[in-house]
Amino acid sequence: MNPELYILGSSSANPTRERNPTSQILKIGSEKIMIDCGEGAQMRLMQFGIRQTGIDYICISHLHGDHYFGLIGLISTMSLMGRKQMLHIIAPAPLKNIIDLQILHGIMHIHFEIKFHPTNPNVPEFILKTQSFELSSFPLKHRIHCTGFLIKEGKKERHLNMQAIDKHEVPVAFYKSIKTGKNYIAENGTEVLNKELTLDPTPIRSYAYCSDTIFDPTIVPYIKDVNLLYHETTYLHNLAQKAAERFHSTAKEAGIIAKMANVGKLLIGHFSSRYDNLQPLLEEARVEFTPTELAIEGLKIEI
Ligand SMILES: [Zn+2]
Ligand SMILES: [Zn+2]
Repeated sequence: MNPELYILGSSSANPTRERNPTSQILKIGSEKIMIDCGEGAQMRLMQFGIRQTGIDYICISHLHGDHYFGLIGLISTMSLMGRKQMLHIIAPAPLKNIIDLQILHGIMHIHFEIKFHPTNPNVPEFILKTQSFELSSFPLKHRIHCTGFLIKEGKKERHLNMQAIDKHEVPVAFYKSIKTGKNYIAENGTEVLNKELTLDPTPIRSYAYCSDTIFDPTIVPYIKDVNLLYHETTYLHNLAQKAAERFHSTAKEAGIIAKMANVGKLLIGHFSSRYDNLQPLLEEARVEFTPTELAIEGLKIEI
């Protein structure tokens, strides 16, 4: 199954009646990754029927409140629900102190381990790898330490070529090793090469998340050719100067970045609360890059 992205929040600093601050869930293989955890993320999880069990990785792009004020609430709920397994938090280093203080002064009893992985605001860095995915971060230019995230599916098995398998009468017990790339050696010692028995694996899918950032073409090499790019779009381009002063981007600029990076699809979000109607933002980005969608609460998008 291809990875799926769920939008839990799409507003910038201020929430609106329809939009919560930023949060997303990426389902990839058997894992769930939360990306940013703005206020209200827990309630959106429930509304959209996504269980918080199985969220073992939470990536926080930066420490502006609209990207992490929901985190301590989620940690508290996880603990009350009896969570035992380790939670990985990938975030700017000071977040550990903030969470530790909240746990200490709230006398919260957390019965699972939290492993912090500090992000690097200066250079792209590999963070971790599981069976389902590989995660890395890359620097974004914002008012404070901020990173984007690149998530790629893990290595995939080769597909069996059943015609060739039948022809060589390969027993079922060998299927598993053949899918990992091994040759087949029959009882009589004849060797059949793997490339004869298998077909290429399904291509690896990738997702890049560009949280708050000024228009910055230097990020293009990090996000080149991804299947789906999320890029913030706080303003329309008539407010380009305001966007630059606040280290944010416009819809047109997000479209330009998507085009430069040759991505498959662009998803825009982090909309200023001044916009009730998001269509103009969508239309402006589409002028630069046609396959663009709005990151609206409740949206599920297959990558
Ligand atoms: Zn923000
Ligand atoms: Zn910010």
